[in-house]
Amino acid sequence: MPAHDVLIIGAGLAGQRAALAAAQAGASVAIMSKVHPVRSHSVAAAGGINAAISVDDDWHSHAYDTVKGSDFLGDQDAIEIMCSEAPGEVMHLEHMGVTFHRNEKGEMDLRAFGGASMKRTAYVADITGQALLHVLYEQLMKHHETVERYEEWFTTSLLQDEQGRCAGVIARDVRSGRMEAFTAKNVILACGGAGQVYKPTTNGLIVTGDGIAMAYRAGAPLMDMEMVQYHPTCLVETGILITEGARGEGAHLLNANGERFMEKSAPNKMELASRDVVSRAEQIEINEGRGVGPGGRGIYLDVTVVPRKRTLEALREIVNLGKDFAGVDITREPITIRPGQHYIMGGVKTDIDGQTPIEGLYAAGEVACVSVHGGNRLGANSLLDTLIFGRRSGEHAAARAANMTMPELDTHAQLHRDADAIDAIIARPRDGRRVSEIKNELGEMMNKYAAVFRDEQGLQTARETIARLKEESEKAWIDDRGTVFNQDVLGAIELGYMIDCAETTVVGAIERKESRGAQYRTDFPERNDEEWLKHIDITLDGEQPKVSYSPVTITQWQPEERKY
Ligand SMILES: Cc1cc2nc3c(=O)[nH]c(=O)nc-3n(C[C@H](O)[C@H](O)[C@H](O)COP(=O)(O)OP(=O)(O)OC[C@H]3O[C@@H](n4cnc5c(N)ncnc54)[C@H](O)[C@@H]3O)c2cc1C
Repeated sequence: MPAHDVLIIGAGLAGQRAALAAAQAGASVAIMSKVHPVRSHSVAAAGGINAAISVDDDWHSHAYDTVKGSDFLGDQDAIEIMCSEAPGEVMHLEHMGVTFHRNEKGEMDLRAFGGASMKRTAYVADITGQALLHVLYEQLMKHHETVERYEEWFTTSLLQDEQGRCAGVIARDVRSGRMEAFTAKNVILACGGAGQVYKPTTNGLIVTGDGIAMAYRAGAPLMDMEMVQYHPTCLVETGILITEGARGEGAHLLNANGERFMEKSAPNKMELASRDVVSRAEQIEINEGRGVGPGGRGIYLDVTVVPRKRTLEALREIVNLGKDFAGVDITREPITIRPGQHYIMGGVKTDIDGQTPIEGLYAAGEVACVSVHGGNRLGANSLLDTLIFGRRSGEHAAARAANMTMPELDTHAQLHRDADAIDAIIARPRDGRRVSEIKNELGEMMNKYAAVFRDEQGLQTARETIARLKEESEKAWIDDRGTVFNQDVLGAIELGYMIDCAETTVVGAIERKESRGAQYRTDFPERNDEEWLKHIDITLDGEQPKVSYSPVTITQWQPEERKY
C-alpha cells in the first residue's frame, strides 16, 4: 500500500504549491489529481494575481481593500498574512520562470482590478493561470525524486483512524478502474471549488466540489458556503468568462440606453467596483428592462475604448473568445455579457496553516475557507490565496509529519465499501433518471434561486428540490459499464458531491437573514452587523446539515459602510 508523509489531493495551483513546499521541507510527498495536473482548473485563470509590489503600494492597503471587498466578513488575521506575504510569493514565481508582463522601463507591469485602490495585479497577458501552472509543474518534475505523482487518479473518500484522525484516502485509477488505499500522515485537500453546482458557470466540468463534500462527510465543518460569486462579465449564452482585466484596461459597461449605469451604484470606482456590486447593478438593469441582446438578458461590455494595440497585446485570449464563442471582434464592437456563477468563497474551514479541525486533514485553495474572501472575493486574490495557503499547508504538514509515525490502519473495509458503491452505480437499472438530467436540473435551479438575488421562498424551493434530486441521484443510471476511463461513473459520484455542496449553500443562504457581499436577500436588504457579523459553519449531523456560528476575526479594520 502506498504511504506518504504528505498526500495532496488536487494538482492545481494550491496543490502543486503545497507539494513543492512540503518536499522542500524534507517530507515524502505525493500529489493526486483526477485529471492531468496542467488540465486543473487553475489553467483557466486569466487576469492576474494581486501583490503590493509597486514602490507606491503597501500591503496594508491591499489588506484593507480585501477586508472591504469581503464586506467585513473576511478574517483579518488571514488577510494580513495573505497580503503581507504576497510580494515575496510573486517574486518567487518570477524567479522560478513565470514571464510576467513588463512595462517600458522593464519593471513588472501591474493592471487595475475591481475593488483595488491602485494598480496591483501582476499578469501574463490574459493567460496568467496557465503561465503559473506550467512553471510549477516544471518544478514538480524537477522534484520527481521526492514528489510522487498520481495523475488521473480519482479520490473517493478520506480514511480516518479510530480517533477520527485523517490517515489517507481511497482512490480509483481512472485509466484502469483499479481501487487502491493510500495511507498518509497528513492529507491536504486542494480539490478546487464547486462551480458545476450552477449552470451556467465559468468553471470547467471537473469543478464539482469533491474535496468539500469528502471533508464534510468526514465530519469537517464548512464555512461561508452561502457566499457564491457571480462574475459581472460572462458571455450570455455559454457563461464563458471575459476577464475583469478588460475593465481593468478601461472597458465600459453600457445598458440599452448607452448609459454607463455604474455611475448610479459606484460613482467613484465605476466598472471597477467589487464584483458583487457590479453584478447586482447589471442584474438591476436587466430586470428593469434596460438590458441588451436576446430577450434583453445582457449588458454591453465595450472594449473598443481601450486602444486596439493594447487589447491585442494584453487581452489576446478574450479577443479569441469573443470571435470563437460570440462571433464578435471586441476591438471593433461591444460584446454582450451578463453576471454568471464564477467562484465560491466558502469551503472547508481552516486555520491560517490550512489545518481543519480534523487532525491530519488540511485544505488550501478554492476548496478551503480560511476566509480571506469573506462575503466577496476581489478579482486576482484567488490565485494568491491558492499559493500562500498552499505553501503554508505544505510546510505545516511536513513539520507535523516529521514528529509522527505512519498511521497503521486496516483499510480493507472502506476500500471494499467504495469499490462496491461504484459497482452498484454501474449496475443500476435504466429506469430512473440519467445523471446528466439531474445535474442540469440542479444547476439551472441553483442559478434561479441561489443567485445574485435571493429570498426565503426561492431558497426554500431550492432546498426541497435538492432533497428530491438527492433521492433521484441515488438511483440515477449511466451508460458506460466498463472500467477503462469510465468518466460516466465518476460523474455519478461527482453528482453526489455537488448535491452536498448545493445543500450546504442553500442552508447557509436561508440561515443568513441579511444582505452582505454576494448574498443579497431581497427580503432582508440591509447588512446587519449586530446580528450577522459572524460566519455560518455547517457540519454533517447524521444525514442532515447542522448550523453553528463562529466569530469574524477583526484585527485593525472596524466594519463601516461599503461605498465604491
Ligand atoms: C475562467 C476563470 C478565470 C479566473 N481568473 C482568475 C484570475 O485571473 N485571478 C485569480 O486570482 N483567480 C482567477 N480565477 C479563480 C482561480 O483560478 C481559482 O480559484 C483557482 O485557480 C483554484 O485553484 P485550486 O488549486 O484551488 O483548484 P483547481 O485549479 O481547480 O484544482 C483542483 C484540483 O483538484 C483535483 N481534484 C478535484 N477533485 C478530485 C478528486 N475527487 N480526486 C482527485 N483529484 C481531484 C483536480 O484534478 C485538480 O487537479 C479564475 C477562475 C476561472 C474559472
